[in-house]
Amino acid sequence: MRELVILGSTGSIGRQTLEIIALHPDEFRVLAISSGGGDPALVIKQARAFKVSYVGVVDNAEVIRQGLPGVTVIDGELASAKIASLACDVVVNAITGSIGLAPTLAALDAGNILALANKESLVVAGDLVMSKAKPLQIIPIDSEHSAIWQSALAGKSDEISKVILTASGGPFVDRTDVSGVSLADALKHPTWSMGAVVTINSATLVNKGLEIIEAHHLFSLPYPAIEAVIHRQSIVHSLVEFHDGSTIAQASPPNMKGAIAYALNFPHRLAKVTPPIDWSVKQQWSFEPIDDTQFPALALARHCGQIGGGLPAIFNAANEIAVAGFIAGKIAFTSIVPLVEAVVAQSVKLAPQMLTDLSDVSAVQDDAQMLAHEHLIRLAP
Ligand code: MG
Repeated sequence: MRELVILGSTGSIGRQTLEIIALHPDEFRVLAISSGGGDPALVIKQARAFKVSYVGVVDNAEVIRQGLPGVTVIDGELASAKIASLACDVVVNAITGSIGLAPTLAALDAGNILALANKESLVVAGDLVMSKAKPLQIIPIDSEHSAIWQSALAGKSDEISKVILTASGGPFVDRTDVSGVSLADALKHPTWSMGAVVTINSATLVNKGLEIIEAHHLFSLPYPAIEAVIHRQSIVHSLVEFHDGSTIAQASPPNMKGAIAYALNFPHRLAKVTPPIDWSVKQQWSFEPIDDTQFPALALARHCGQIGGGLPAIFNAANEIAVAGFIAGKIAFTSIVPLVEAVVAQSVKLAPQMLTDLSDVSAVQDDAQMLAHEHLIRLAP
């Protein structure tokens, strides 16, 4: 039996992780969950259903404590990091955003296996995170990286010539003019059901940019060896090309459960996690090159990744502010990427070449957020 800790338990990935665990009570036990605490009723429900020993929350700690006699409730900004360092078999980091970095470092420092859905950990501090990780200590949950991980098992790492990340293209893939699109339009993802931030990042393709940086760190590949391609059906989750000219792909219907279960139970596969592809119906899979003019976020992310140091954290921090600004109705969808571009351009000369600890990362992020806020005010209608 594997003992698990789930960070971000009330979010989309966290809830799906608990659904998988509920179906496999003999394989897993949940030791602890953590979340922001914005939905205390759900936290209490999850903690009771899985008989957890610890709960970590930022908000509503008292309500949750009263609802969970006998459970240790850890609260405050550091709650998830504290929960991540509890001795266990696997820590699932399903937190959205760069606030997932501290818990990632805590899990690695404690020697726990880290099933990582929080791509921002690797984007904002990839060198730092990878320097702390032992081989096989981080197992990706991001579906593209899980697909690369699975496909890479078909050869040796020095036989990989490149990896190809697939992108659905988001809701605006066929629109040349996205001015005036609403929040509701941007949240209508054609194939995936995900949290709001990831869905908007998919519409701008910032998400794919973050995933290129994530892949660079996770698989120690140079940026030219990481490509991205539009695959509208979201069934082939990514591909690995080996130096003999052979390409191996991982395919399953668009559903995060396969990737989550694989990370929870690596190297073994759990039975009946997700329905397989139905070959009794006609399948048509398409792969199209990405238009860099239509999606400038991709080249921008690559540029930040290649320069490295503090720049990927600046790219991500500016995007987090821009997306929050769009969700709050402060800026137009079309202003998201230009805002990020402007902050990156202003920061490129001043960005530190290396981030050695959490406080370095925070300092860089704070500066980028301040610049991003200035642009938000300037761009407001
Ligand atoms: Mg992904």
